[in-house]
Amino acid sequence: MQINVSQQLKAPIGLRRSYEVSEIINIAGGSNMVQGKVGLMRTHRGILVKGALHTEVEVTCSRCLSLFSRPLALNIEEEYFPIIDVSSGAPLSLPEEPGCFTIDEHHILDLTEAMRQYMLLAIPMKPLCREDCAGLCPSCGHNLNEGPCNCLPQGTESRSSGLSKLTLTSNVSVK
Ligand SMILES: [Zn+2]
Ligand SMILES: [Zn+2]
Repeated sequence: MQINVSQQLKAPIGLRRSYEVSEIINIAGGSNMVQGKVGLMRTHRGILVKGALHTEVEVTCSRCLSLFSRPLALNIEEEYFPIIDVSSGAPLSLPEEPGCFTIDEHHILDLTEAMRQYMLLAIPMKPLCREDCAGLCPSCGHNLNEGPCNCLPQGTESRSSGLSKLTLTSNVSVK
């Protein structure tokens, strides 16, 4: 989402504008609709963006490997710095913060990269489709959320029988 902030950069410090966000963000091969509101406030150095956004991402359960949708709340707060002076066009020096967000020479403030970064941070490292996800059977790979499989409950025995079945199948397929 791109916002032309040339008028706001000429406005006095403290002036606020708000915008509705409805934007598709592509991360990790998926398209995600991000919606909500952002407020832009003129600061002495640039524009402070505060957003309360929400989206849904498709993630893989770390236990049963099924895909499921998970809502994410994105509370964005970032200051954007203009690279040129809006009145004179003279280049401005940026703060020495690594990866700070900038407003380009056409006075465009682009929210997309910030939304993408906040989404990546909000996705849990080990998502679970539900708190009590039963996971997969270690022998046959059956999704135990869909009910029990036919494997024996004793760990080692069932594992070795599963392995010999696997070897047999691969021998057959070679011939
Ligand atoms: Zn699961
Ligand atoms: Zn099983």
